[in-house]
Amino acid sequence: MKRKFKIAGLALLSAVSLFMIFDFAFPFQPKIHYATQVTDHKGNVIHAFLSKEDKWRLYSGVSEITPLLRKTLIYKEDQYFYYHPGVNPFAIVRAGVRNIFTGRRTSGASTITMQVVRLMEPRRRTYLNKILEIHRAFQLELHYSKAEILQMYLNLVPYGGNIEGIKAASLLYFGKPPQLLSLSEITALTIVPNRPSSLRPGTRNDALVAARNVWLRRFEEERLFDKNIIQDALNEPLVVKRLQAPKLAPHLALRLKKENPDEPVIHSQLKIQLQSQIEEQVKNYINRRKMMNIHNASVLVVNNETMEVEAYVGSADFNDVFDGGQVDGVRAVRSPGSTLKPLLYGTAFDWGLITPKKIVNDVPSNFSGYEPENFDQHFNGPVTAEFALANSLNIPAVKILKEVSTPVLISKLRKAGFKTIDIQAKDLGLSMILGGCGVTLEELTRLFAAFSNEGELKKLRYTSETPLDKKGTPIISPEASYLLTNILTQITRPDLPTNFDNTYHLPKIAWKTGTSYGKRDAWSIGYNRRYTVGVWVGNFSGEGVPELSGANTATPLLFSIFNALDYNSPKGWYETPANVSLRKVCAESGDIPSEFCTHQILDQYITGVSAYKRCQHLRWVFTDKPGKISYCTYCLPENGFEKRTYANLAPELIAYNELQKIPYQKIPPHNPDCERVFHEGPPLIVSPNDGSEYYLRPDEPQQIQLACQTSNDVQEVFWYINDKLKQKSAPHEGIFVSLPLGRVKISCTDDKGRNSNIWVTVKKM
Ligand SMILES: [Zn+2]
Ligand SMILES: [Zn+2]
Repeated sequence: MKRKFKIAGLALLSAVSLFMIFDFAFPFQPKIHYATQVTDHKGNVIHAFLSKEDKWRLYSGVSEITPLLRKTLIYKEDQYFYYHPGVNPFAIVRAGVRNIFTGRRTSGASTITMQVVRLMEPRRRTYLNKILEIHRAFQLELHYSKAEILQMYLNLVPYGGNIEGIKAASLLYFGKPPQLLSLSEITALTIVPNRPSSLRPGTRNDALVAARNVWLRRFEEERLFDKNIIQDALNEPLVVKRLQAPKLAPHLALRLKKENPDEPVIHSQLKIQLQSQIEEQVKNYINRRKMMNIHNASVLVVNNETMEVEAYVGSADFNDVFDGGQVDGVRAVRSPGSTLKPLLYGTAFDWGLITPKKIVNDVPSNFSGYEPENFDQHFNGPVTAEFALANSLNIPAVKILKEVSTPVLISKLRKAGFKTIDIQAKDLGLSMILGGCGVTLEELTRLFAAFSNEGELKKLRYTSETPLDKKGTPIISPEASYLLTNILTQITRPDLPTNFDNTYHLPKIAWKTGTSYGKRDAWSIGYNRRYTVGVWVGNFSGEGVPELSGANTATPLLFSIFNALDYNSPKGWYETPANVSLRKVCAESGDIPSEFCTHQILDQYITGVSAYKRCQHLRWVFTDKPGKISYCTYCLPENGFEKRTYANLAPELIAYNELQKIPYQKIPPHNPDCERVFHEGPPLIVSPNDGSEYYLRPDEPQQIQLACQTSNDVQEVFWYINDKLKQKSAPHEGIFVSLPLGRVKISCTDDKGRNSNIWVTVKKM
């Protein structure tokens, strides 16, 4: 007896050792190629891709396998699943006996583990293969837990056609995740794998109901569930048909799949309802504008607090091949129009250069040959900085950029993650602030979210893998962000959609529009405390449309998205930062009032940052009693003079007043007997441009215009060509001259001896 035990023990030991050696030599490494599924922030599948083998094989996690599903399945397939080591010896013996008596081979002996082996490595049914399969089953049991093996089974089990696994079956037949399946639905689904073609859901529903009820009654007999639960399940109609796989957010889904090629489940931060609602909105919006030859739009919705991207619409219709629906407009590089202006103004606030009420001149200006115009080709004269930003005036923006300098703005944009601008950097000039550069909707929306987050730029979070930046990168200060937001919230502005007040409910948001050169791109980016929404409308073909504008084409969509998103935002508005205070300024300049500044207004400023400059909108001038001659301190007589104030106008504003015939107060001519030499404020030659080249056609010699801008006290200017006096003229009167060939020096001297020179080159054509 003892000996027998010993032999049995030895046999068992060698069998186990043999198994271990085989397990080591031929490890079982299941490699399952899943179809990629992209979920929303709650785990709902929003988009699914076929697997490499063109199967709908969607991975379900352990948490998606409910106790109800587990209980039903184990009872039906393998009652001793938790007790056997992969193979159920009693079942094998029973099946063997049955085979002998009936002469048929049944698969009743298969455990769930054995079925997993066969699903992973399908083999012909031979006795040798059976032994191999038993070995594999032991291996699975050795290396994986019961829960994992059950999960493998539920991920691989066939459901007819190219549907595999409980998750795909649940989604594509019942349109819901496995956790929400009822007992009736679970029972039906556990039967299908036995006869996947004859019981395929949606085709033979009657047969499926009959088979389901057989099993439900068996559950009742075995008292697996309560009587009334079974009764409910029996009464439940089987509503099942083959559904389409979810295809929301196609552009983001493709993007995330490309970034995570081996992830079976990608957890995006989208909100399924918001996403489908906005996709619908964009599609309808563009459908109504196709008549105008406007065919596409993109939208990005970012939650400012979490930085989660809650909706992502790359184009109006992904399936519209004709209009490039597959192009991802969120990442397409386009001209920003005026949408970078807020960043520039914010920077200028931080540099102390401007405050909201600071006066800037919106008059024709020449920036070394660059003469920008406004969108409506109209000039407004002196305006406040806030008016200039809210009305998106071009000349003030270029002037401010000239002061801030393009390298500074470029380095800010680099810091803010603008990739194309980084590449273009060395080719960018002042025109970049009017759209002469490339940006994406993604970059712009992220930048505007920073304005909402006290100037701190944070990473956009597309998936739950990306952690929230606790501290962002400061782009502008909280104070500058606050001032910007106030300006961008103003509703008396021209970039509201035409007739907005009777058509749209206007949400409380800060926003900025942009229209690119050639009317190719319409932008509108807006934010409140909770959300930043970026909208682009245009054609992927790049075709411009005369009716296209940020105000009329992109803003209505922005407003309707905000209304859907956050109609009555529970979050209040931004609080005034401690360092933003009020001060009195002169309305004529926006500077600190001087003794002659009678019109004073309140202005916000940043303590310790905003410039503290005394107003010089007027200046004191000494004149003779009748006010016909002015004096300087050098020639001021001992008596018989008056001290009067005169407008202290910038040369370009004087030129503008002259051009527009706007009356202004002129300083009387300077004392002709004065011998002092003046240096400050020489004439500014605005035509031709310094360093330019001219090609003269020999048959018709052209004349070139000479023009300058001068101080308020200049009565006459003298033009010299190569140091020879050419002509005398009034300061604001352009003259035309013929130039000699070669390098030509052009000089302009005013009646006080102040002089400027430029050089041009004249060549024969
Ligand atoms: Zn003043
Ligand atoms: Zn003098």
